[in-house]
Amino acid sequence: MSDDALGSITSPGPADRATSVDEHAERILATITPLPPYEQPLLECVGLPVCETVTSPMDLPGFDNSAMDGYAVRFDDVATASQDHPVHLPVVGEMAAGQTRVFALSPGTSIRIMTGAPVPQGADAVVPVEWTDGGVAAVRISRAPSRGQHVRTRGDDVRAGDVLLEDGTLLGPRQIGLLAAVGRAQVRARPRPRVVIMSTGSELREPGTALSHDSVYDANSFILAAAARAAGAIAYRVGIVSDDPQEFSDALSDQLVRADLVVTSGGVSKGQYDVVKEALGGLGTVRFEEVAMQPGKPQGFGVVGEDETPIFTLPGNPVSSYVSFEVFVVPAIRRMMGRAPYRRPLTRAVLTEGFTSAPGKRQFVRARFQANGQGAQVHPVGGHGSHLVGDLAEANALIVVAEETRAVDAGSPVDVVVLERDF
Ligand code: AMP
Ligand code: MG
Repeated sequence: MSDDALGSITSPGPADRATSVDEHAERILATITPLPPYEQPLLECVGLPVCETVTSPMDLPGFDNSAMDGYAVRFDDVATASQDHPVHLPVVGEMAAGQTRVFALSPGTSIRIMTGAPVPQGADAVVPVEWTDGGVAAVRISRAPSRGQHVRTRGDDVRAGDVLLEDGTLLGPRQIGLLAAVGRAQVRARPRPRVVIMSTGSELREPGTALSHDSVYDANSFILAAAARAAGAIAYRVGIVSDDPQEFSDALSDQLVRADLVVTSGGVSKGQYDVVKEALGGLGTVRFEEVAMQPGKPQGFGVVGEDETPIFTLPGNPVSSYVSFEVFVVPAIRRMMGRAPYRRPLTRAVLTEGFTSAPGKRQFVRARFQANGQGAQVHPVGGHGSHLVGDLAEANALIVVAEETRAVDAGSPVDVVVLERDF
């Protein structure tokens, strides 16, 4: 397995002037910078890498406490207890978790104690209630604990000053829990990038509204917003923007205030009414080019606005748009969050159904991946058309076929990107 899905395949360089996938991807990552970290509430940080070395401000447990419901005792008082020769002790008090009154245990007595309650001074063992008659005024103990048994000692888990999380550790439920356990309400992490997503096309209609015979529902902004969220970003789905360049430019400048990154779909091919190209082409800060890949040939990337917000202008066909997002935008989002590796890892799988591939382009073939006792297998799903959203929904992987490859036979190992898998 390589850790670098999209950059590890060496391309011989396409014959025409198209940019290679690797060149385009590298140019993007060179422009994208990680967002500055700040202290954020713990639950905002799930799935983000921590941006500090976290040391513990306290011992855990913070005080000696009972691991069982039972009786706090002095070991020497109960050392001989057995079924045949039980020890009887008076019960002089009771301690529950959260109880602030501090007891001291005199020799020859016991204190009823609940799990988590502080162990009274002088006690050095807890007899579980199951080893006793459960007495209230006095207790019969018919089994001896060892010294220290069932007492959770202060600091036996974590010591004040211990390193809890190395800088860069991914914050999941267990790490978030540890931070809370030592009293941290906030932790330094890079924010989730705010990704603004705009679909262009005068033919587009909002799902849930009526469709005329020549219009189509806007699928892209939903695909891309969902994919942005899955990558850990905050997605702002802007409604449909028509093929009027002025309208597009106005909508874009309205959106820039809340964008760390902008993604558009449509309007970047060679047709007329290619609104995104028309609106941004003159700026000189967005580069439109052909990338040697299939699907997803027409690509644009650059920066817009005073803050030089990165913008990806993806092609309009839904499959092209989605594949482009996975290949180029997901790594950018992860770089902004500081979450390495930026690119999806490649997995090897055995191809169960051969296919041919256009030379000179890196192919991302929609596929179904499956790993079981027989190992990992993969087969293509659906046709080549980049409008085939039905097939796209059936796919769970992309087979990555190198530029120079013209055919792949059934039975041969191939490189696969498994989609929607954590990495
Ligand atoms: P374009 O790149 O704008 O020429 O679009 C290429 C094709 O993708 C056309 O058939 C569009 O109708 C279709 N398309 C563009 N945007 C979307 C979208 N947001 N949802 C579904 N299909 C789209
Ligand atoms: Mg269009």
